Amino acid sequence: MSVIDTIRNRQRIRPDLQINKPPPEHKPEILLIGCIDARVDLVGGLGIEQGKALIYRNPGAQVRPYSERAASAENMDIAATLEISIDVMRVKDIVIMGHTHCGAIGLCDPEAASKIDEKTLPSLFRYLAPIRQLWGMVTDAHDHSKHEVEDASVRRSIENLRSYPPVARALAEGRLKLHGWVIDINNSRLCEYCPDSDAFVPMTNRLPA
Ligand SMILES: [Zn+2]
Repeated sequence: MSVIDTIRNRQRIRPDLQINKPPPEHKPEILLIGCIDARVDLVGGLGIEQGKALIYRNPGAQVRPYSERAASAENMDIAATLEISIDVMRVKDIVIMGHTHCGAIGLCDPEAASKIDEKTLPSLFRYLAPIRQLWGMVTDAHDHSKHEVEDASVRRSIENLRSYPPVARALAEGRLKLHGWVIDINNSRLCEYCPDSDAFVPMTNRLPA
């Protein structure tokens, strides 16, 4: 049965869907910026209560740098998401959530069998240009390179976030924190970026705040 048919059937057979309830509380505390990968469950998988996290997803969980041009065209969706999240909903934390086995990052691997080209997928090709640059910067053995690019992409997106006016303002006012995480889709374990050591460390190794 297709996903669409499953959803239609579920609507028909669930009697609780007929009962009107008050809308769930909407007081998000964080904005999660993740990849569109269907295997990464950004809410249930992390144990986040419904209504507590705003979610923004794109291929590779990328945040490109802010610029007037970008805010008026290509990056308008992320710029608007940041304004709503920070200045309307007043979230306290923003997380860039990368993940292992990321298809968007794999598409840019210079040694991968399946690559994209500008003619067949022009928008995706242009969109992934920053990730292709990161692949050009990794120097490790091939087996480690993909993890290195996944980590580097998260680090760069955090830095790019700082260029958006609402982020810069909220950071200066001390009411916002930025985080970089990578989730291992094999076991759902999280690694967290630590600016002090400039490295990703397993969250299980960190003491509770
Ligand atoms: Zn991905």
